[in-house]
This record gives sequence, structure tokens and C-alpha cells, in this order.
Amino acid sequence: MQTVIIEAPAKINLTLDVKGKRSDGYHELETVMHQVNLFDRVTLEPRSSGIEMATNSSSIPLGQENLAYKAALMVLQEYQPGAGVKIFIEKNIPVGAGLAGGSTDAAAVLAGINHLYDCRFSRQQLLKMAAAIGSDVAFCMSGQYYQPRPGELVSRGTTAIARGRGELLESLPTRIIPYILIVKPDFELSTVQVYSELDLKAVEQFPDTRSFLQVWNKGDIINISVYMANVLESVSIRKKPEIGIIKSRLMEMGALNALMSGSGPSVFAIFPDNETASKAYQAFKKEYREVYLLSSYKRGDKNGS
Ligand code: ATP
Repeated sequence: MQTVIIEAPAKINLTLDVKGKRSDGYHELETVMHQVNLFDRVTLEPRSSGIEMATNSSSIPLGQENLAYKAALMVLQEYQPGAGVKIFIEKNIPVGAGLAGGSTDAAAVLAGINHLYDCRFSRQQLLKMAAAIGSDVAFCMSGQYYQPRPGELVSRGTTAIARGRGELLESLPTRIIPYILIVKPDFELSTVQVYSELDLKAVEQFPDTRSFLQVWNKGDIINISVYMANVLESVSIRKKPEIGIIKSRLMEMGALNALMSGSGPSVFAIFPDNETASKAYQAFKKEYREVYLLSSYKRGDKNGS
């Protein structure tokens, strides 16, 4: 048994709609999520008992509160109670940013331990465990995994529409968005608080998810931007007007559209070409620490390796 390294990509929400509140207190969601080429690296090592965690980040908890720890506990409990693992998280995704940093680490741990110990849990079993850990974990784990070389496990990357609490997933065709700029302002927003303050009557712009899916399915990456919207902006921009200012500035710099991701505060923009995207990157980099010029996350070739 050897060490396994897994890439754990961040996601952006290309659309985010809330259809109402459920009797269990959660919101009924409809959101298109897309993985981008910004990723943590999770290393797993076999250990006879106990979960040991370490990270290069000073911003994430190391014990039971870490979603990756929860994931390890859950999958090991199902596999062989008492079995252990050593987890190292190389954190590259900003924390509390609306980019599913914690969820993607948890997803990597579920898929990684299944591989490391040859637990042979089915995809359905793993997705069920994922949904029990957190709303976005199932999405983060829903790409197909493959082993490019011994000791590495890689997801091909995924785009899906999620409904319910986020756990009812429908995969969408692979599309590559070549120029994505993410700006994460220097504060965090609590997902729970943003949802709790959502008043659907105060929302000015709802996404046109049906039209979005039509153009996505056609492969028309330029026109998806017309139908992107996020209802949570109505809350987050009221709390933190800087998010609205970043959006406007990205639009002035030539973005096709700019949107908050998840409950924020990260804002992403889709650009038509490398030149305008790079200029905007340089401008924002002067003011913000966490700015990323990316494309979609995609691994593996057509033949499945
Ligand atoms: P989402 O987009 O799914 O709402 P997010 O990107 O807004 O998530 P995270 O980066 O997952 O937020 O962090 C949210 C909280 O979760 C933070 O306060 C952080 O302390 C905690 N957390 C627990 N485990 C992790 C992890 N492995 N990585 C990052 N944050 C974690």
C-alpha cells in the first residue's frame, strides 16, 4: 500500500437559483456548478489506526471540524472501524470563498481512501456518504476518477446541475471555458448566514437556467454569459458592497459577464480572450492578494486515460 495524491478542484456556480424553502429548513436549489483549474492537493498515507491531519494553511481547522477529517471518519467507519489514515492538505483554494474548498477536500478523501484501501465502495455508496457530509461534496466527487500513474488519483473534472440541497445531480456535457478570472476580496462570508438572509421577493435578477442549459448543450461558451445569474448576490452585495464594485469593474474591463460564486465573496468573470483577461488580472492583482486567471478543470484524454 502506498501514498495516494489527489487533486481537489474548486468550483464556480455558473447559475444559482433558489426555488423556495423546504420543510427541513434547507433551501431548494437549482445551480449549475463547474470545476475550475485551481486545486488543493490531498495526500493520503496508510496508518494502522487514528486520523492524523496536517496542512500548509493557517486558515483551516485540523480536527473534526475539517470536512476532510469528517469524510475520512465516515468512509473508514463504513470500511473497517478503527482503521486510520494520514491526510495532508496543500491548500491553494481560498477559504470561505464560495469555491467549495472544504467540500472538494472531503470529496478527494472519500475517493482517495476508497482507492488507497481498495474498499470497493460503489460510486452510489460514495455519493451517498458525500451528500451526508455537506451539500457540495457530492458534486465535487461526481467526476470520473482515473489513475494516471501509481500513487495518483485524478478526477476528469465535471460540470453538473444540482437540485434539492445540492445532492441531486445531473451531469452536463464537458465544455472548456478558456478565460476565467476569479477575484476573492479579503473577507469571508458565512454560507449559512447568507442563505438565512435571503428574501426571494427582493431578488432583482433570477438566472434563466433553461436557456443556459440550451446554449451550454450547444457548446456556445460565449452566450452562456447572457443567462448567468446568482440570486444570493442580493444578500451578499447588500452586506458587502465591494462585491458589486468588483463585478462592475470586471465588466468595464471587457468581461462577457461577472458573477458572484456560491454565497461569495469570490467573483468570477468570463473573458472573450487572453489579452483582456490578462489585463484585468494585472489590474486586480495590484489590489487583491487572491486573484486567479484560470480555465476550466479538465484532465485525461479522449481514450479514457
Ligand atoms: P461552499 O462554496 O461549498 O459554500 P466555501 O468555499 O464558501 O464553501 P470553504 O472554503 O469550504 O467555504 O470554508 C467554509 C468553512 O469551512 C471555513 O470556515 C473553514 O474553516 C471550514 N473548513 C472545514 N474544512 C475545510 C477544508 N478542508 N478546507 C477549507 N475550509 C474548511
